Amino acid sequence: MANAWVLNTLESHWDHCVRGPTDGTKHPDHHLGEPWHGIPEGGRSPDPSRLDPGDLFIVREKGIGVRGIWTFEEARRVTDQSILADSWRDHDGEMLDYEWILYCRGQPERELSTPFREDWTGDFPLETPHIMGTAIGSEEVIEAYVSHLLSHSISESSKSRLRDVLETEIEEDNQPADYEQPDRTRTESTRPIRDTTLTREMKETYDDVCMVCGDTRLKSPSDTYSEAHHLKPLGRPHEGPDNRRNILVLCPNHHADFDYGMIRVDPMSLEITHTQSDTDGSTLEVAPDHDIDEEFLRYHNEQIAKI
Ligand SMILES: [Zn+2]
Repeated sequence: MANAWVLNTLESHWDHCVRGPTDGTKHPDHHLGEPWHGIPEGGRSPDPSRLDPGDLFIVREKGIGVRGIWTFEEARRVTDQSILADSWRDHDGEMLDYEWILYCRGQPERELSTPFREDWTGDFPLETPHIMGTAIGSEEVIEAYVSHLLSHSISESSKSRLRDVLETEIEEDNQPADYEQPDRTRTESTRPIRDTTLTREMKETYDDVCMVCGDTRLKSPSDTYSEAHHLKPLGRPHEGPDNRRNILVLCPNHHADFDYGMIRVDPMSLEITHTQSDTDGSTLEVAPDHDIDEEFLRYHNEQIAKI
């Protein structure tokens, strides 16, 4: 299944991002003129190893709102900084180094006819800055965000791609995404990509209490909220299992910290290492009937070492 990710671009970068690379001596031909996004070293962006071709990027321009909805195609590690736009690198006179380039397709909507300004005055459960910190890999926030986008005027093709993201059943598809085909054909067999019943049950087991900090967040005055995190991610290339032994129940902040590799957990003692939080040195709170597989904690820790 395609996942949706929120990308932030700076105002000064937008034009260059949406136009894409133009130099065929530095970029593969098939990426020329298609949108691209750079990840600076240490940047708060999706971990490229978690992206699958065909994933949807909801692209925001900071201070403006959503300006495009793109399809992710390929991530490449930057070995030569000269392939990047100077306008990206120059950060108030300081030259930033970039680690990754995310090459995209300008589909389903390269540039919205009018930017979607985020005005969460309705019953949207979280504030915008919070969304930006947690949108990555967080099903509930993405779902709320996408629903909100759907209620605004965007193209029909964007709507249909966004709805795809919300679906729980997907086509059995081990082939690379075919971008030339606007409507991907559904096959007869479908499989659930995420056992939402499972994650719902686990959140109930934990009463929406974060296993790291013990906090519970509210999404309304009477309704609590938590997020499920797969230690070994479900998507390629990780292919982690969707079962209890691979899942943690977390608050949005600690979910983001797991996604960004800010937290490691000792597989044996379950002691937490989190250098930027007072949870450092505490122990993961695990429910009596919840066995977490050491292998998956170890996998998570190994992924951090690669970031
Ligand atoms: Zn927490």
